[in-house]
Amino acid sequence: MKSHARVVVIGGGVVGVSTLYHLAKKGWSDCVLIERRELTSGSTWHAAGLLPLFNLSYSVGQIHKYSVALYKTLEAETGQPVGLKQVSNIRLARTPDRMDEFLYYKGIAETLGVKVNVLTPAQVKEIWPLANVEGILGAIQHPDDGYIQPADLTQALAKGARTRGAEIYRHTTVTGISRAKSGEWQVATDKGMVTAQHVVCATGNFARATGRMLGLDIPVIPVEHQYVVTEPHPAIVERQKKGLPEMGVLRESDSSWYMREENGGLILGPYEPGAPCCYVDGPSEASEYELFQEDLERIAPHIETAIARVPAFGEVGIRQVYNGAICYTPDGSPIIGPAPDLQNIWLNEGHSFGITAAGGAGWQLAEWIVEGESSVDMLGVDPRRFGPYAGRGYLREKNEEAYANVFTMHYPDEERVAARPLKQAPCYDRMAKLGAVFGSVYGWERPGWFAPEGYELSAADKAYPDVLLNHNHPAQPVDGKPPREKWSFRRSNYFKFVGDECKHVSNAVGLQDMTPFAKYEVSGPGAEAWLDGLVANKLPARIGRVGLVHMLSKNGGVRAEFTVFREGPGQFYLVGPGALERHDWDYLLKSRPRNGSVDLQKITTQLGVLVLAGPRSREVLQKLTDTDLSNKAFPWLTGQTISVGAATAKVLRVNYVGELGFELHHPIEMQNYIFDKLMAAGKVAGIRPYGIKAMIALSIEKSYRLIGREMSIEYAALESGLNRFVNLNKGQFVGRDALVAWQQNGFSNRFVTMEVDGVTDDGSDVRGSEPILYKGRMIGRATNGGYGWRVGKSLALGMVRPDLGDVGQELDITILGKNHRAVVVPESPFDPDNVRLRG
Ligand SMILES: Cc1cc2nc3c(=O)[nH]c(=O)nc-3n(C[C@H](O)[C@H](O)[C@H](O)COP(=O)(O)OP(=O)(O)OC[C@H]3O[C@@H](n4cnc5c(N)ncnc54)[C@H](O)[C@@H]3O)c2cc1C
Repeated sequence: MKSHARVVVIGGGVVGVSTLYHLAKKGWSDCVLIERRELTSGSTWHAAGLLPLFNLSYSVGQIHKYSVALYKTLEAETGQPVGLKQVSNIRLARTPDRMDEFLYYKGIAETLGVKVNVLTPAQVKEIWPLANVEGILGAIQHPDDGYIQPADLTQALAKGARTRGAEIYRHTTVTGISRAKSGEWQVATDKGMVTAQHVVCATGNFARATGRMLGLDIPVIPVEHQYVVTEPHPAIVERQKKGLPEMGVLRESDSSWYMREENGGLILGPYEPGAPCCYVDGPSEASEYELFQEDLERIAPHIETAIARVPAFGEVGIRQVYNGAICYTPDGSPIIGPAPDLQNIWLNEGHSFGITAAGGAGWQLAEWIVEGESSVDMLGVDPRRFGPYAGRGYLREKNEEAYANVFTMHYPDEERVAARPLKQAPCYDRMAKLGAVFGSVYGWERPGWFAPEGYELSAADKAYPDVLLNHNHPAQPVDGKPPREKWSFRRSNYFKFVGDECKHVSNAVGLQDMTPFAKYEVSGPGAEAWLDGLVANKLPARIGRVGLVHMLSKNGGVRAEFTVFREGPGQFYLVGPGALERHDWDYLLKSRPRNGSVDLQKITTQLGVLVLAGPRSREVLQKLTDTDLSNKAFPWLTGQTISVGAATAKVLRVNYVGELGFELHHPIEMQNYIFDKLMAAGKVAGIRPYGIKAMIALSIEKSYRLIGREMSIEYAALESGLNRFVNLNKGQFVGRDALVAWQQNGFSNRFVTMEVDGVTDDGSDVRGSEPILYKGRMIGRATNGGYGWRVGKSLALGMVRPDLGDVGQELDITILGKNHRAVVVPESPFDPDNVRLRG
């Protein structure tokens, strides 16, 4: 065994081997993989080998697409057959909502370059003659989908890696990982020590045990998953004899199962509620090719629906049941990227569709390690999308929920209920009393919108076709109240209530809880120089000034956005999106100078945030403070620490809704005091709370960009239209030169705001990820959208081909399968001169 390697990959399942393969392919041949038993002896060997391309996440969609393209080439490259069969995959829709989901997904797939056909029931019958198509409204088909032999795939990747010089040590167990004085990692095994620059953990069901070696709580706990293999069926054998094509993979989403042919018989794999977590403390030391006791009772309802759909399935005996461990994370997507807090430790864990994802996951992780940046925006799979709150108890609840929801409808406004309400701002009960219908982000409860007293969904709202997966609202809402929110791909029951909130903020005054904002303090003699070199804009020049700054990737894309308040000499207060707290913190922490000149603190949970917005907000706040709040004394984009009654708050004159407004960042323990004072002082002005849905609708009218939508590492900061916030002349900052080079080579995207025609109340506004067309050809994608209540128009934000982004340009946006005319309008359709904000 080598004593030194550039990278040690731990774990010889398909994911670890693919990572090794891609590192070697990038020219890093000096890499080794360590596997405690045989390659594939974890979860890989028993996988059904399906390669589903369907996924609503941008990151996962890109990864899956790459995998299938790679797997097609592997046999020719390595000489090792991989058993790839692109037999296609059909997903059946039994309900109108499911059809909406498929049409929404079809748009996403188009923007990803994934082929999807819409089929009629008759077409399904033609391809799957053994299926009964009664009750089917339609289907989508992925012609490139299929399945592969997971063990052969792993061996092919191993061969490709070895041919390029990488080494694989089987029957070798990693027993500890420690940091050498040099900064390198020392990987201890039962056969000796390897010192490495980088370590990749791809240890499947052992993820948490591996994490313990590093002091990391990796948010992965597996769940039991079963599939059933039948004896051969005469009709299938007959088809084979006749040389007819395989019928392909069939998925009945509304009954939560997949099915495909296997050796003349069928495989059925259900995703059932009630499947338990397993290996909570990790598998035993002896674990190898391990399966659990089958539990057919648990999947009986799924078997029944499968027999109803494909009677042949019930006509033959069961040959074998596989019940194995399948890794899960709280949102069901894998964990691919840098480990939080630790330099050069990389995670490729938590794969529930690991056979499908392995190719793309290895590709992007290798790029990240070798080139310092992935080329795909990986926010959707970034390990740092979960915070320290995602501990063992949370995972047990959330991962079982994620498993049970594999086939449920992925409504864009769905709010799952497990492990909630976990993090509550002190004003949670007050907001609940005022009618808040909560959503959850990063473990925090956040008011989404406010329902009138006594409001609940009507029977018609709750009515849902009789299918196995039957939901369009939580059966038991977190707050114990009757369901008040119906999830939909279209304008839903809360649409008009959100509209009322928007109008109220614009006409009077509203109060919002934004406590989940991530908050950081940066101070010390080196603070200013360090921050200045990290962000693209100039820092606010004077004490008391507030600005918006962006941290770029080394390639000139946008990594993070902060509001920055210069609080005192060498003292800065940074505010970022709550959902990205760990992500942003990790970048700040890892780029901080090591000479002690910068003090960096994360203070999210020390401060609550209440936002007072609307034309009467000044009048309300002025009643509670002796600080002069006039425009002259307290202008837009400034901040002051003031008294609010007997409490103290850092008040920033900024907000995300484009109105006169104040953000009150206050000691969290004073929140309810301040809340009550504001509500009382605002009574005359008619103060009312508003939620995140209103905030987003209002922000779209201002063309405000969001990380992960209009801003990403895939778009140059100037493509995202951040010209006002990028100061190329201020001196060096991370990403500056790359951005200039990108500009010189020419941009391929341009940020635009559009008005969308023809959206009716039973239709849908743009939600993001819809294709944008010009003369029938795709030239961009929508990134966000909604109804603008102040301008009275359906609006969309998007990225389009630069020559098609001029004001007045007519385009089309495909929303749920229907093309809508969209016209590019000037940025900030509401109050483009910011008169309200400055007022
Ligand atoms: C019944 C079932 C059906 C499935 N069907 C599909 C499917 O159709 N399509 C699909 O895409 N996915 C499917 N999956 C999921 C798929 O099996 C996994 O996502 C995939 O195998 C994960 O691969 P991995 O490399 O991450 O993990 P694993 O294959 O579990 O590999 C991890 C390896 O790390 C090794 N290891 C751990 N700790 C150490 C250590 N300390 N030192 C050395 N080595 C270590 C282990 O021995 C193991 O070999 C299925 C899963 C189940 C249970």
